Amino acid sequence: MTVVIIIGSGILLISLFYYILFFTGNWPKKADFNIQFDVVRNLCKVSKSELPQSINILTIATGKLPSWAVSAGDFSGSGYNIEFPCFQIVYENKSVIVEVPFNKYLYNKFSFKQNYFQDSFDLMQKALLEADIIIPTHEHWDHLGGIAQSPNLNEIIHKVILTPEQIKGPTIVDAEFPNHFLSQISPFEYKDYSSIAPGIVLIKAPGHSVGHQFIYIQLQKGREFLFTGDVVWVNRNFETCKNRPWIASKKRLENRHQISHQMKYLYDNFVDNKNQKIVMVSTHDPKQHKEYIDKGYINEGLNLN
Ligand SMILES: [Zn+2]
Repeated sequence: MTVVIIIGSGILLISLFYYILFFTGNWPKKADFNIQFDVVRNLCKVSKSELPQSINILTIATGKLPSWAVSAGDFSGSGYNIEFPCFQIVYENKSVIVEVPFNKYLYNKFSFKQNYFQDSFDLMQKALLEADIIIPTHEHWDHLGGIAQSPNLNEIIHKVILTPEQIKGPTIVDAEFPNHFLSQISPFEYKDYSSIAPGIVLIKAPGHSVGHQFIYIQLQKGREFLFTGDVVWVNRNFETCKNRPWIASKKRLENRHQISHQMKYLYDNFVDNKNQKIVMVSTHDPKQHKEYIDKGYINEGLNLN
């Protein structure tokens, strides 16, 4: 009898553990995350000619995430394609690069690899040399590894904007910056919102990492974008209305409370809001990027001199 109770309890405990690891991820009923777009737009009040003209995208690599890693309890199929792009914000006389994915050396350590495009990485490096500002949404290797591993690190480091949270965070180490380089960057400190160039505003959004931020961009012709980094990797979470599974968050030291509230906020205000004109851009979702390229919102390829 005692043996039966012990085995039964063991099975129950293992099932509970498995359930917590893979299945828990409900969103809150109401989001505690919010963006004051009146404040954000106020920070963009400059003459139209100063605003950026267009946004370009270039994919450096692709991958495929298993469905169970994307959305809690999703064992639906073969997985979801992702991509690792950089975005070039183009002004009349300057440019800003958002997201700088990893080089081949770091990419080879990524568990869910598909294809790596060395030519694109080389073009991105050229764009970094020509850019005026370089900024990632957060401090993970697939967003700044191409800075840390840049063959031109000396030439570009002074243009890189990193916050104190990003520099001191526990995950930046994966990008393998040479030690002395991170200490050369003066941390860019801000509270809630900050404009870093005409029409570009940073919005604090910690959760996926301690230094995670959104980037709002307003173009000359009036179209607005909200780059939401890695709150979701692909839109699947907006179909299931679930967070990532606990096992995926644990690996990245995520704050699941903050992520759940951000997902719920984006769902209510963007996915489920037909009046929303601001274009939400997730960094890794190839389907979404293709839709925006087809609609003419963003352009494929980089402008290089
Ligand atoms: Zn990422």
